Amino acid sequence: MNEGGSYYLYDEKIILDQLAILKNAFPQVRIFYSAKTNPNKNILETLTKNGCGIDAASSAEVGYAAALNLAKEDISYSSPGKTKEDIKRTICVCRIVADSFSELELINETAKEKGLTAEISLRINPDFSMFGADGLPSQFGVDEEAVLSHKPFIDSLTNVKITGIHVHIQSQILDWAVLSRYYENVFRLAVFLKNSGFDIKIINFGSGPGVVYDRTSEKPLDIERLSKDMSLFIEKYNSVLNAELIIEPGRFLVCQAGNYFTKIVDKKISRGTVYLIVEGGLNGFMRPCAANLVKKFAKEISFSAEPLITNNNPCEFFVLNDSTRKEIVTVAGNLCSGSDILAKDVVLNEAKVGDMIMVTNAGSYGYSLSVREFAGQRTPKEYFKTLSGEILCTASNRFSLF
Ligand SMILES: *Cc1c(COP(=O)(O)O)cnc(C)c1O
Repeated sequence: MNEGGSYYLYDEKIILDQLAILKNAFPQVRIFYSAKTNPNKNILETLTKNGCGIDAASSAEVGYAAALNLAKEDISYSSPGKTKEDIKRTICVCRIVADSFSELELINETAKEKGLTAEISLRINPDFSMFGADGLPSQFGVDEEAVLSHKPFIDSLTNVKITGIHVHIQSQILDWAVLSRYYENVFRLAVFLKNSGFDIKIINFGSGPGVVYDRTSEKPLDIERLSKDMSLFIEKYNSVLNAELIIEPGRFLVCQAGNYFTKIVDKKISRGTVYLIVEGGLNGFMRPCAANLVKKFAKEISFSAEPLITNNNPCEFFVLNDSTRKEIVTVAGNLCSGSDILAKDVVLNEAKVGDMIMVTNAGSYGYSLSVREFAGQRTPKEYFKTLSGEILCTASNRFSLF
């Protein structure tokens, strides 16, 4: 399939299975795929063809979504630090989520210049955090407490109407009870704002649903349990609000649908450690290298810094050969960097130069997050296996409305 070079392979069936799980669990909630997770064109196409909207994290991602002919209401654009140029390019093709009060002014000014009224959402940094504590300072959104005091300012904007809220504070959650409390808190916030005179037509709950990266220490999210609570909240709160409800998952849909493949180009032993040197380490798939880098200093990862770092073992490794013998190896890339370590002291099939290594959990924050051109290395290719088994060669970022 691939003469040398590293590549990603995504499986459409797994993506559609994951989508079905979410659709069944949340039948009254719309699903917007978070494109920054993996903006591969085939992935965007398959998800939007099956009813998803797109959550864009940049004006470029709005461009990818708009190129798929999505309706304006089906593209949500949320990021801090939008420039006037970003707003100008996107205001007619998506629903913008304002991230600050100064951004509200910028949107208002742009809408005025274009002679339109922009219906937008406001990203709120709520007065609660994911694990139950009070709200924290954040570079995202406006503080919940500041929204009311800015109501006169908001009402004074002639060409902007806020008709929805957006909240996203943490993702990769595997505890249904934590997510359940979060969803209820967002509903309560929406009710509070409605009672304070805001128009709430859309509630976007952001992401949250996590995936199992490390099968030895993590259990999958109990979606069925979460689904029951969500139905109760919808009955309790949304019968009054009557808002359109949106969640915007990324990794839940695609993480486990992707594997990363890279070739062993050298094998050596240094003071007792067996090194497999592969073509694409840090510059092909950065996440496992980032975890190793942190462990080098901290031994154990006791925090997450999504989407770069989740836990000690974000991937599993396999040498693709029939060997029945195992060996303990360290898998390193070919960059002149001590941080170019994909796996340390893992037990793999005994390998020889030329064998391929497969790395799991590569469907999200893989290709798009890696430093692909460092040291003039070749960029990995991307392949997409369709439901019918056809393998398409695709590339991210090669199409856009802009
Ligand atoms: C990154 C991001 C997501 C997707 O997060 P996942 O953990 O991949 O599900 C959704 N919404 C916003 C605002 C994000 O920044």
